[in-house]
Amino acid sequence: MTTHLLSVDSLSKDQVDHLLRVASRMEPIAARRKVTRVLEGAVLGNLFFEASTRTRVSFNAAFCRLGGSVCDTTGFTFSSMAKGESLYDTSRVMSGYCDAIVMRHPDQGSVAEFAEATNVPVINGGDGPGEHPSQALLDLYTIDKEFTRLGKHLGGAHLLLTGDLKHGRTVHSLIKLLSLYEPLRITLVSPPGLEMPGQLVDLVASRGHRVEQRESLDSDFGDLDVVYTTRIQKERFTDELSESFAGVSQDFRVDRAFLDNHCSATTIVMHPLPRDSRPGANDLNVDLNGDPRLAIFRQTDNGIPVRMAIFATLLGVEELIEKEMRDVRWFVPETFGVDDRQL
Ligand code: ASP
Repeated sequence: MTTHLLSVDSLSKDQVDHLLRVASRMEPIAARRKVTRVLEGAVLGNLFFEASTRTRVSFNAAFCRLGGSVCDTTGFTFSSMAKGESLYDTSRVMSGYCDAIVMRHPDQGSVAEFAEATNVPVINGGDGPGEHPSQALLDLYTIDKEFTRLGKHLGGAHLLLTGDLKHGRTVHSLIKLLSLYEPLRITLVSPPGLEMPGQLVDLVASRGHRVEQRESLDSDFGDLDVVYTTRIQKERFTDELSESFAGVSQDFRVDRAFLDNHCSATTIVMHPLPRDSRPGANDLNVDLNGDPRLAIFRQTDNGIPVRMAIFATLLGVEELIEKEMRDVRWFVPETFGVDDRQL
């Protein structure tokens, strides 16, 4: 693997498969049955200049579960960037303090620029509308795990990606990652103006996948194996886009009626989260809560083993994990959420 994880472009299919195998070996630790101290003494720098709950906390928790410690900073206000410090200077300074750095920043390309000034591994935790490689890896891990449970294979599967495909960095990374695998059928549905960037559609099609774009969720899709929904990222809208979007009357909400009409008992529904749960939002509806096809919290749980695997691989300790494992000594509930079910 390369020094940094900035884009899925740097990963070969073999490297992705290796990472996912390492992630599955992390499961006993992520499930809190085992502990390891393999990164004892190592320090992670978490630099988040954009809102985050899952990515920041799960990278933090993953590093701690490997035995390391974390220094966390959030927002521009409390960082020296508010005093005009450059990405270069911040990067060099952080490199003297930390053994790995995760960074999220509102500008596309900023994390790559930051990484140019350091030999310490940098992970892109989201650069504006650019990429979110660790989310794509955990999404692929989730699809693989769910398909194994359902007796399905990735090759030939039909995935529907919907929502804000223009600004959704998770789908940008995911579609590139999926394109490394056997031919798939990928259907893209987004409100007008929020379509998947053309170069990504072309790239995936050039790798032998069948890609179709539609304007409405009210279509005949045929069999769907995965419905991957995303939030409309209004914080990235230009004024012009806000105005044109205000007039969009079509409904892009994935809800129980959509599942009843278009999905089977083995379709899984994913979302990188957060979902907009406010009434009237064009997002994944809460009326699906409790439906076993809703994989969103299994997906968030998978963030831990996958992010542990990223750290272990970048820091070269993945072969030491099993040697270091011992039993957990504290109370761990049978399931993490009150509505979780054993599938
Ligand atoms: N949490 C994801 C991201 O940071 C998705 C989102 O914000 O809608 O890209």
